[in-house]
This record gives sequence, C-alpha cells and structure tokens, in this order.
Amino acid sequence: MPKRSDYDLILVGGGIMSATLAVFLRHLNPKLNLLVLERLPELAMESSNAWNNAGTGHAALCELNYMPDDPAGGLPSATKAIAINQQFQESREFWASLVESGVMKSPDTFIHSIPHMTFVRGDKQADYLARRFQSLRNQPLFAGMEFSKDPSKIATWIPLMLEGRAEEVVAATRMEQGTDVDYGAVTRQLFDWLIDSGVEVLTSHEVQSLKHSFSGWQLIARAGKQRISLKAPKVFVGAGGWALKLLQNSGIKEVKGYGTFPVSGHFLKTENPTLVQRHQAKVYSQAAVGAPPMSVPHLDTRVIDGKPSLLFGPFAGLNFKFLKHGSIFDLPLSIRFANLLPYLSVAAGNISLVVYLVKEILKSKKQKFESLKEFVPLANSGDWELYEAGQRAQVIKPSGAFGSLEFGTEVISSSDGSIAGLLGASPGASVAVRVMLDVIKRIYPEDFANWGGEIQKLVPSFGVDLNANANLAAASLQKTAQVLKLKA
Ligand SMILES: Cc1cc2nc3c(=O)[nH]c(=O)nc-3n(C[C@H](O)[C@H](O)[C@H](O)COP(=O)(O)OP(=O)(O)OC[C@H]3O[C@@H](n4cnc5c(N)ncnc54)[C@H](O)[C@@H]3O)c2cc1C
Repeated sequence: MPKRSDYDLILVGGGIMSATLAVFLRHLNPKLNLLVLERLPELAMESSNAWNNAGTGHAALCELNYMPDDPAGGLPSATKAIAINQQFQESREFWASLVESGVMKSPDTFIHSIPHMTFVRGDKQADYLARRFQSLRNQPLFAGMEFSKDPSKIATWIPLMLEGRAEEVVAATRMEQGTDVDYGAVTRQLFDWLIDSGVEVLTSHEVQSLKHSFSGWQLIARAGKQRISLKAPKVFVGAGGWALKLLQNSGIKEVKGYGTFPVSGHFLKTENPTLVQRHQAKVYSQAAVGAPPMSVPHLDTRVIDGKPSLLFGPFAGLNFKFLKHGSIFDLPLSIRFANLLPYLSVAAGNISLVVYLVKEILKSKKQKFESLKEFVPLANSGDWELYEAGQRAQVIKPSGAFGSLEFGTEVISSSDGSIAGLLGASPGASVAVRVMLDVIKRIYPEDFANWGGEIQKLVPSFGVDLNANANLAAASLQKTAQVLKLKA
C-alpha cells in the first residue's frame, strides 16, 4: 500500500524508462515525492526484460535501417546514424556516472563488449555497404570501423557464418566498440537504488484510470481486490504498450488520432558452448522486402546473468496485445472515432508490411530454421529452440485525417506539462536517457533550464555535439569504455 495519498510525481510502469526518469529526478531534486506503480508482481518483466528484447546497444554501428541507400548511388547520409550513436553515447555516460557513484553495480552485470557487424550478400548489397562504410569511416563516433569483402578475413570475425557457405559475393563491416546490454539488469539496479534512496516502488498495482481536475491528477489503481485513489500534480506514463490506453483514458487532446500497431517478436536461441564460443558478434543484415525496420534479421551474442548464448531473429507475429502480458482486446478497445481513419489508412498504405507479417505468422519452425541457415549454413536444428520475446507497440501517428506508421519513440505530453507518456519502441531502451531528458524538459520546463549543470554531472556530453569534435568524441568513448570495462 502507498505510504501517502498524494505525491509530486507518479510514474506508471516498472520498465527502463520509468527507472531512468526517477533516477534523474532523484539526483536533480531529491525533495520530490515519487511513486512508481507496476501492474506485474515484478519489475522489468515486459519489453525491458533481457529475454524480451535483443539487448543491442543501438548506436547505428551495424543497423542498415538508420542509413538507407542513396537511390542515386551516392554516399548514403550519415545524419540519422550519427544522431542515434550520440544518443547511445549519452546512455553509456549516464551508466558510467552511476557505476562511479555506486548507484549501479559492476558493469559486467549489465553490459559487455560485443563487436557490431553488418553482413551482406551479392554485388548490389556489397556496393551499398562499401558506400555506407565510406560515409562513416571518418566520422569521429564511428572511428575504427573495418570493412572487408574478403571471405577469409570475414571468416576470422564470424567463422560460423562463413563455414559451409557457397561461393558468393559477401561483404561486412565490424565495429569493436559495439555492446550487448542486459536492459532488465539495468532496470532492476536502478530500481534497487531508488528503493534504497526512499522512492516508493509498488508492484502488483495496476493503474486503471487517470482523471484531471483543478487540483491535479487523480489515479485509481487496483492492488489485488483493493482499489486505491492517489493524487499527484504530475504523471509519467511509462507503461510500454499500454501507454496509449492510459493516455487515451486521461482525456488529453494531444493523444487524439494516435494508435498502436502491435508486432510480437520470436527468436531462435542456443546455449551450445561450441557455437557460442565461435560467434562473438552482433551481426545485422538486410531486411526482407516489406519487413519493418525492427524485423531486420540478426545473429547475436547475448550475455544474460553471466551466461552467454546466441539468438537469431526476430520473427514477427501479429496479435492484438499491446503488452506481452496484455489482452487480445487491447487493439480493438483502443479504436476511437479520431484514430479510426489513421488505423485504416496505415493498414491500406502498408500492404507490403501486412503481406510480410502474414508470411511471418504462417512460417513453420522449420521455415524459421531455414532463415537461420542463411546466416549459419551448417546450423543444426537440434541446437536451437524457439521462444517468444516482447511485444513491440509501434506508433500510428495522425497525419491530416489519415495516419502514418512510425518506427521511432514518441513522447506525448499535455500542453500544461502535467502528464507525459511514451509511445513506440525503437531504438528503445538504448536511448532511454535522451528520451527521459525530453520528458523532464516537458514536465519540469522551468527547472530544466536550471538543471543543465546537474545533468552534465550525469551525462557530460549533454547539449554537446560529440561528432563535431573528434577529441570530445574520443574522450567520451574512452572514458565510458574505461568505467564500463568495454573495448574502446
Ligand atoms: C522483440 C524486441 C526487441 C527489442 N530489442 C531492442 C534492442 O535490441 N535494443 C533496444 O535498445 N531496445 C530494444 N527493444 C525495445 C525496448 O525493449 C523498449 O523500448 C524498452 O524496454 C521500453 O521500456 P519501457 O519502460 O517503456 O517499457 P516496458 O519495459 O514494457 O515497461 C512498461 C511497464 O509498465 C507496466 N504497466 C503497463 N500498464 C500499466 C498500468 N496500467 N499500471 C501499472 N503498470 C503498468 C508493464 O507491466 C511494464 O512493466 C526491443 C523490444 C522488443 C519487443
């Protein structure tokens, strides 16, 4: 049961976003009374759980979707890749500060150096990858990127993927500074510290309604058979896929027209020590036609609870749940007059995506295994098991009377700054720091203007364009590598 009935800020959801926001605010203004409510019996059991996401520290080192090819055959633009990289760098700096101050534990409990690679086949893709390499090789945040078209060289990086491969044109890039992150461990460590520092964090408390009045927000939460009424002038909705439903319930006009397009993810996984030992990389490739950016196939080294494994996927699935532990009525119940056209237009305007998803759903385990064989030609099905990861809730954004499907993360906030929530899933946990700074700016606009110095103690590159200054970029990479025990 909550200790008080009124708080300065109530955070709904026990994932990495709420944890990151609460840790920032605890440092910026320790006097704020914060309450975190999580509906499940444990924290970090939805998308932030290590097994529910791919654990990639998304820094655009290997993901082609941040740098689509230039149709004219020129150098692809590096602008978006640089922006994503800087945002991940901010997360590294935040975690490094927290390790130094003892908020977070030893870095090997949550982050590991795993090279990030891109692997492509055929002349056209090899040419694109070569031009992508040209665009990135002299960018300070991408220093050290390697490129090869030589199969014997690539085989020294990823032997499992070259063994038994028919003779064909291949190309790869490799970045030593890539990471695998256990976002579940990050979340739990942040919450452990928050609880120790006096923040109330209550599990098995589901927020069911949010109403605004002249005195602030009134939340009704269910805890077992009890219904509790709570008050706060400000609310953060970090409810993952259920954020849409709570923001709709709040009645704020800013969420009108928004919808959520849920895509579930499945992976193949092996813990066979011989295979794990022979594949030490996160290798991303090109997406199939119609596939959404988050369905780019990749073969990854993971380290969870100190145990290494390999995962391959994701295989997309279609169901109406907005959370893994959600309800099949989530999508139908989210339909409103204002978002009906956006929903319909997204379905009509993304036929290739719908076809792709239908094909994915119809894929048998054997067919999924065939996709793995494109990565690991000599794979043995007995080594791999299929498991269900988390539910991605992609944003459908109103655009005029219609809607567009977005693959990023979107902060929705009321004009008075009393409520903010997060829709979308990508690049996700990797950029939690930047996204939560955006939330703080919206809900505490006046304080934010004065908090710059304190924020910089946690995130030294806050407000600095790292890529514009090679020395600063190198210093940030080296410092975070040293504290987080990573390869620079
Ligand atoms: C298959 C997959 C792969 C991914 N891969 C990556 C990756 O490689 N790298 C990366 O950076 N990101 C990745 N992501 C995205 C990343 O996992 C998410 O962006 C991130 O975890 C979202 O954190 P969150 O705190 O917003 O949500 P969540 O972790 O989902 O937490 C939301 C919490 O709110 C709770 N909640 C919901 N409704 C209520 C309510 N009414 N009352 C109380 N509590 C409530 C939920 O139970 C949940 O615990 C991936 C996601 C998926 C699904």
